[in-house]
Amino acid sequence: MNQLIRDDLLQIRTPIVNFYVLRDHRGLYLIDCGFAGGRQLLKQALQNRGWDREPIVGIIVTHGHLDHILNVGLMAQETGAWVAAPRLDSAHYNGNATYRGFTQVTGLLEAIGKPLLNFQPFTPTRLLDHGEQLDIWHGLQVVHLPGHTVGHSGFYCEQLRLLFSADLFASYGSLSHLPPRIFNSEEKLVSKSISTVLDLRFSGSPSQPLRYRST
Ligand SMILES: [Zn+2]
Repeated sequence: MNQLIRDDLLQIRTPIVNFYVLRDHRGLYLIDCGFAGGRQLLKQALQNRGWDREPIVGIIVTHGHLDHILNVGLMAQETGAWVAAPRLDSAHYNGNATYRGFTQVTGLLEAIGKPLLNFQPFTPTRLLDHGEQLDIWHGLQVVHLPGHTVGHSGFYCEQLRLLFSADLFASYGSLSHLPPRIFNSEEKLVSKSISTVLDLRFSGSPSQPLRYRST
């Protein structure tokens, strides 16, 4: 079930991964593009919301795992949208990421999935680093949260005190926890990234709690 979080923010829910549609006066922006069936789910959700005639202006990538980037290349081609993605996950975008240790399981799953699901490699229009600002929606700041992947990044809207935390956390139903170890390339960096997120709580207005949106 898709969820309208605000009148300019839509969550597209799928069994494996969630992704988001943001809307401002220029059009729509996607945070990640979902996994198998994601394009159809997006189309349906935009129709239901009455946003299907609005241009998709940009695609923002949180990290390079296939369940987040499977549709990015194809959707960028179809819509002409720019793509902004974390610099340190670049090897994932052209399909050349390598996996070590426990995450070789993830690498194997992706090696099977990429040809099966017609993954299209892509070159981002803009490579993102920690602290950069995206001048869209209510403003988004890139927050580098390595651990899940080397380049894994969240996007923080200070005005709304809202963080798109990507796969820093996983949730099954109402239970939130860290992603399983086989999905974390740099497990030792996860706790530091969680500290980084907790520090965000102290910026902006202290009167409202920080809200997290995991994908
Ligand atoms: Zn992931």
